[in-house]
Amino acid sequence: MTNPEIQNRLRLLPGVDQLLRTEPIVALLAEHPRHLVLNAIRQVLEETRAAILAGSEDESNPAELLRLCAERVDQLSQYTLQPVINATGIVVHTNLGRSLLPRPALERLDRIGRGYNNLEYDVRQGRRGSRYVHAEDILREITGAEAALVVNNNAAAVLLVLGTIAPGLEVIVSRGQMVEIGGAFRIPDVMAASGAVLREVGCTNRTHLRDYEAAINERTAMLLKVHCSNYRIVGFTAEVSLKDLVALGRGRGLPVMEDLGSGCFVDLSPFGLYREPTVRETVQTGVDVVTFSGDKLLGGPQAGIILGSRDIVQRCKKNPLTRALRVDKMTLAALEATLRLYRDQREALNQVPTLRMISVPLETLRARAENLSARLARLEPRGVCTFAIEESVSQVGGGSLPAQDLPTWVVAVRSSQWSAARLEAALRRRKPPLIGRIEADRLLMDVRTLADEDPPLIEAAFAALLTA
Ligand SMILES: *Cc1c(COP(=O)(O)O)cnc(C)c1O
Repeated sequence: MTNPEIQNRLRLLPGVDQLLRTEPIVALLAEHPRHLVLNAIRQVLEETRAAILAGSEDESNPAELLRLCAERVDQLSQYTLQPVINATGIVVHTNLGRSLLPRPALERLDRIGRGYNNLEYDVRQGRRGSRYVHAEDILREITGAEAALVVNNNAAAVLLVLGTIAPGLEVIVSRGQMVEIGGAFRIPDVMAASGAVLREVGCTNRTHLRDYEAAINERTAMLLKVHCSNYRIVGFTAEVSLKDLVALGRGRGLPVMEDLGSGCFVDLSPFGLYREPTVRETVQTGVDVVTFSGDKLLGGPQAGIILGSRDIVQRCKKNPLTRALRVDKMTLAALEATLRLYRDQREALNQVPTLRMISVPLETLRARAENLSARLARLEPRGVCTFAIEESVSQVGGGSLPAQDLPTWVVAVRSSQWSAARLEAALRRRKPPLIGRIEADRLLMDVRTLADEDPPLIEAAFAALLTA
């Protein structure tokens, strides 16, 4: 396009005031706040101007501009945090909000959020109390720990313990446990932020007790074991057991800490996963402090849980940093309700969605996939897509149980006209967005992570797509 043509197109663009007087915008103003409609108009005009200046030949007639304004108003008035359909099969999906809350936790959120409560009020004594008492009793009960403290997340828990026990002092960690969790949690960085000094020992694949022993000196404050949450070291390997580390710590008068990452309360080996020590078993080794997340395998709200000796937990509580990492009443309400379910393991397996999705029998998954596929097959006469079930694998996710696949059933969507990438993008932009995964130019929908109400929504999404 020549310069005069561009200038001409720019001159022909209506102004904000002109658009405000049009009938479609007047209709939008009747339903939405004025500033929101104005923002939408300004954004659309600005983007159109930029596109014309860049030489775009796209339509910029008034009808098209008004359509774009209405679309933008719709976008601007949406919640940014909104539900999605998780068809990835990844149960603890950090990008999709990690754990779904158990029903009793949701009820508790509603009950506590609606009114006043004794968050920091000691009802018996009639004076200021501590927010930290609320989850502590139940945590001690179900884990056997001497004391407990809940903070914002596990990263905060690790930071707080290191900053309390080892500021300016050395903490010994195996080279095989220099973990990076997604979202920039790296052991060396958290260590640096806490003021503790990292003392790496051993090799990536092998670390021995003598490596820890040799590294202990007068500046050593603690021995730390970190759960390899999202990777496995296989082959010629050696790792010191927590039991041996605890014995070494006892002998040398040093506390031992384990960052468990996920912190599972139930043995998941009956469901085809590796046997990992439960939180209670970890506490039983005599380890001085353990930390883990509230929203990974525990299946509760985001939180970081610190279990440990009375002395260490007390020192953590007194650290001024605790005030900056503290949890609110909503977290405590949901966490207490979730933890209470673990008084009875069957209850937890039935009511905690994260555990329910991990333990669901394969034949149930197959039946679910068959139902979804049959529902979608009704759309096949419209051409374009075919739906078939097949076996696949899901992952627990959330850096919980690495390299452990759970057999599952998926509905595979093939299209004669669209690439899987295009199909995936179109479904992702629906309301609610449908998130699946692509494999060999097919879109796979894993039924493990679908909610009961999802199949009709998925059918509606495909029906709209195949009509368009
Ligand atoms: C997940 C994880 C963390 C971080 O926990 P958040 O609750 O996400 O802060 C820290 N350490 C390990 C070993 C983990 O697996």
